[in-house]
Amino acid sequence: MGYFTDSVAALAATMRNFFRPATTVQYPKVIRPRAERYRASFALLHDEQGDEACIGCLQCERICPSKVISIKGPVKKDSPITGKKRGYADDFTLDLSACIFCELCVQVCPTDAIVMTREQEQPAFAREDLVLTMAKLYANEKSKPRAWGDGTRLMEMQAIPKPPAPPKVEPPVAAKPDPAPPKPEAAPAPADAKPEAVAVKPAGAPIP
Ligand code: SF4
Ligand code: SF4
Repeated sequence: MGYFTDSVAALAATMRNFFRPATTVQYPKVIRPRAERYRASFALLHDEQGDEACIGCLQCERICPSKVISIKGPVKKDSPITGKKRGYADDFTLDLSACIFCELCVQVCPTDAIVMTREQEQPAFAREDLVLTMAKLYANEKSKPRAWGDGTRLMEMQAIPKPPAPPKVEPPVAAKPDPAPPKPEAAPAPADAKPEAVAVKPAGAPIP
């Protein structure tokens, strides 16, 4: 009897799913929207003045757990925009094939020069296509939509919130002493009172 009820239950489950609408989408005609934090590639940015934002500090190269970032530099040279001497990366490559998309390189960048991009897919037919050269990284700045994070925003997000300030405690106020009672006025001396006799030492008397 148990076999029979189990078979009916299994058949019912099959029939329920048989008539359920399919959830498969016809990729690439239909592309499902990606999550807000989806990120697929990288870009290097220019600053507000149009100069390369990367100063070649090597922090992203050092922190990368996969060791896929390689930078030549820093080199000090005059900025073509401001004329001031500053650091630049002489060369910058990032190998996407071994990147784990941890975003640490973005987080440590002191100038918000490197960011991640969120295009829908990143197909490639050869491993070399996944190596992002400096030219490709700067081209991605204009051609690909940026992910929300940059170094400043990621650091702000992870900053430890300050504890609320303790409530102000007013210092205890010292109790004021009661005002001294008014002194009783001296009673007027009777008219017939004799003045006290004052002993006057004779001149030349020895000093005790
Ligand atoms: S996302 Fe992580 S693994 Fe990829 S390049 Fe940046 S630091 Fe390296
Ligand atoms: S991208 Fe940022 S962290 Fe990396 S070398 Fe350039 S300035 Fe430094």
